Amino acid sequence: MPGLPVWTRLCPVDVLRHPVVAGVAKLLAAPDIQAALHEGQRAGTYPAEVVAALRRIGVARLYTDEAEVFHLCGLNAIAAAVDGSLAITLGVNALALLPVHLGAGPELRAQILKKINDGAFAAMLLTELDHGSNLLRNEAAAAPHPDGGYRLSGEKHLINGATHHDVLVALMRTARGGAVAFGDFSVFCVDRDDSVEALPRWSTLPARAADIAGVRFHGTHVPEDSLVGKLGDGFSLVQRTLTLSRGGISGLASGSASGRSRWRSPTRTPATSTARRSSASTRSPITWSPTPSSTSSPRRWRSRRRSPPTPSASAPPSTPPRPSWPAALWPRRRSSRVGGSSRAARCWPIGPTRSSSATSPSTACSTAPAT
Ligand SMILES: Cc1cc2nc3c(=O)[nH]c(=O)nc-3n(C[C@H](O)[C@H](O)[C@H](O)COP(=O)(O)OP(=O)(O)OC[C@H]3O[C@@H](n4cnc5c(N)ncnc54)[C@H](O)[C@@H]3O)c2cc1C
Repeated sequence: MPGLPVWTRLCPVDVLRHPVVAGVAKLLAAPDIQAALHEGQRAGTYPAEVVAALRRIGVARLYTDEAEVFHLCGLNAIAAAVDGSLAITLGVNALALLPVHLGAGPELRAQILKKINDGAFAAMLLTELDHGSNLLRNEAAAAPHPDGGYRLSGEKHLINGATHHDVLVALMRTARGGAVAFGDFSVFCVDRDDSVEALPRWSTLPARAADIAGVRFHGTHVPEDSLVGKLGDGFSLVQRTLTLSRGGISGLASGSASGRSRWRSPTRTPATSTARRSSASTRSPITWSPTPSSTSSPRRWRSRRRSPPTPSASAPPSTPPRPSWPAALWPRRRSSRVGGSSRAARCWPIGPTRSSSATSPSTACSTAPAT
């Protein structure tokens, strides 16, 4: 069917037949929800109200036993078509819970999934500032506790959900071999308590409303059974998690592209270019691309296989068809004015970024609100 986001044609399952996914699509199509998300994007604030509304319609069920990977990818795409920050805020749950699904014993798994069903969100704690993508150099550690279990110490940074999400799935060093060793790391499920400090938010260029911050463990005591899988399994578990989660990234990218495909940069005219260049918002202003009325029938979410789009005889080939897939999901029309009062309607405003000269993690973090 013309105008559908590509992922819906490639996805082998009609994910919108799942009541929760359909509920999410409906909720995110609501103008007040979209307005709240745009405001959060502008102000750089966590989409708490929208997340609460999504929890009420049962989004947590998708992260537990009920959903297939297609539903999670669909959820990513549906959310990303509307708001990137919300999409990664939701998406990190599926990522963080993957090690639990893959490696946890039945008791720990049931315990964590119950927390998620009860309304908790999860975060994945891998990254450390000094080591970035080189996880095998990480230093945050879990040492045996005299009273049993483990004592966690160290910092993780750039963690999505670091201050708001409740279940922390953390890759910690549990051994220190002479050489780099795959068996030196283990994954733990950690609950927040007073020994878990949430560090200030990082200011990120896109996804400004997402909760990207740090976590510091001050000797956090976790019980023995919070270990996911076996001691020393952590790196392999994370490798499998990151490999399997790539499909979810595709969902995010596809949704983001389908949401953005309705937007285009205007042609700049010499008459306005000087004024625009002097404005703080001279980066390609984004305007709504008007579309003609739809000639296609409403989307029916029945068939599992769909025919490729056929050109409509009534529409000229150069005219983009109006999407019939949850049409209200597409961003609403907004003004093309850049320097005036409608500036706040820009997508993806760019805020202050961390100074490259910052040396201390605590001073490098920025809590500055978006401008
Ligand atoms: C929006 C956002 C959300 C995030 N969410 C999370 C999260 O939830 N949990 C989490 O743990 N982390 C999260 N991160 C952190 C993310 O995983 C890291 O940014 C990533 O691992 C890369 O680390 P880095 O930024 O330090 O880059 P670096 O590791 O310094 O890498 C910078 C560049 O150098 C390249 N590079 C690095 N080492 C080498 C090498 N040896 N050889 C060749 N090239 C190399 C890399 O490929 C990359 O292109 C998030 C980051 C962002 C921006």
